[in-house]
Amino acid sequence: MAYSALDYYTIDELYTHEERMGRDTVRELVSTKIMPSIGKHWAAGTFPSELIAVFGELGLLGSSLAGYGCAGISPSGYGLICQELERGDSGIRSFCSVQSSLVMYPIWAFGSEDQKQKYLPEMAAGRVIGCFGLTEPDFGSNPAGMLTTATRVTGGYKLRGTKRWITNGSIANVALVWAKLEGVVHGFLVPTTAAGFSAKDIHGKWSLRASVTSELVLEDVEVGEDALLPGVSGMRGPLQCLSQARFGICYGAVGAAMACYDEALGYAKDRVQFSRPIAGYQLVQRKLVDMVSEITKAQLLCYRLGRLKEANKLHPGQISLAKRNNVSMARDIARDARDILGANGVTDDYQCGRHMLNLESVYTYEGTHDIHTLVVGQDITGLQAFDS
Ligand SMILES: Cc1cc2nc3c(=O)[nH]c(=O)nc-3n(C[C@H](O)[C@H](O)[C@H](O)COP(=O)(O)OP(=O)(O)OC[C@H]3O[C@@H](n4cnc5c(N)ncnc54)[C@H](O)[C@@H]3O)c2cc1C
Repeated sequence: MAYSALDYYTIDELYTHEERMGRDTVRELVSTKIMPSIGKHWAAGTFPSELIAVFGELGLLGSSLAGYGCAGISPSGYGLICQELERGDSGIRSFCSVQSSLVMYPIWAFGSEDQKQKYLPEMAAGRVIGCFGLTEPDFGSNPAGMLTTATRVTGGYKLRGTKRWITNGSIANVALVWAKLEGVVHGFLVPTTAAGFSAKDIHGKWSLRASVTSELVLEDVEVGEDALLPGVSGMRGPLQCLSQARFGICYGAVGAAMACYDEALGYAKDRVQFSRPIAGYQLVQRKLVDMVSEITKAQLLCYRLGRLKEANKLHPGQISLAKRNNVSMARDIARDARDILGANGVTDDYQCGRHMLNLESVYTYEGTHDIHTLVVGQDITGLQAFDS
């Protein structure tokens, strides 16, 4: 069945012509190139790597960055791309978020001119893939406690440590590894071919199965002076990258919710029980109306978030509030859609179960739901409920 995107409040009109055109291009791409095969990839636990070159050709990688072969579109335009990609699958959006917001953005914002020239055009074209190594086996919500270290050696640095749950880890050409140099966190651009670097995939996931997730081991990996990102030190570096990526997730979650709503509505209109389509029953209508209500609120939140970002007025608490709301909303909608589909909803003939399981990862990564609660709690009370 053709996808029909929910826009109950004609929020479309608020976006510019260019933003809508970019969104429509990705919507079409998802319908024609992602939907036909994503279920098989998800079941097999494989990432559709043939899409990378297509993303590069369409300018989707690092799309909101200016110069260096990047498209330079508005943050809202980037958000809408994330929305459409996640309508297909959270894992596909994760690939683009990591490449664009977690690796290209820090090179663009904190890198030397040589690093920008070397990496950004190749990454925008999809010829070089990046991953972002912050989380460690014992440090997830509290990344500041990281154990990975960098020590100065003649001509550069030596890195030692383990990073876990790293998206794109084993397919990356360059890993942005966050490590403590003399006790202070710094970012290092580590070629994945460097001696002592290895990436092992994490298998057995029942979420984000069409995305590569790996453990990175750095055993005395030596890199040159030019591997250090010169423009930032301390946790401000990774946190600023995460704000960029979370912005995209706020939109992405709406896409997953829109996909589930569309599937549930279509199914409910077709499925006959007690001689009538189930969409005609009040209890089912209540569920569908709740979905429309929550998606519409989340769409408006995203719209405002984008315009605040464009005006340089967006602060991290506002992103946390939207990430917390929109991902939780999408997770609830995926589960309700699964319910409306009855037994069929537990099969991979339908997409709501895949979204439902994917959204468990999205709920946890880039700051868990509860950590974002504490971030907003601190913002509004001035009192920090956790140590950093
Ligand atoms: C599929 C996937 C892909 C990922 N990709 C990347 C990536 O590319 N790069 C990367 O660096 N990381 C990545 N991550 C890691 C992710 O960011 C972490 O999983 C996340 O930060 C949570 O850390 P944790 O899993 O160690 O959970 P923990 O920090 O151990 O949290 C477990 C539970 O405790 C709660 N909790 C923790 N502290 C507190 C507190 N102070 N108060 C109240 N509750 C608390 C949490 O909310 C959560 O419910 C990925 C994770 C997944 C699942």
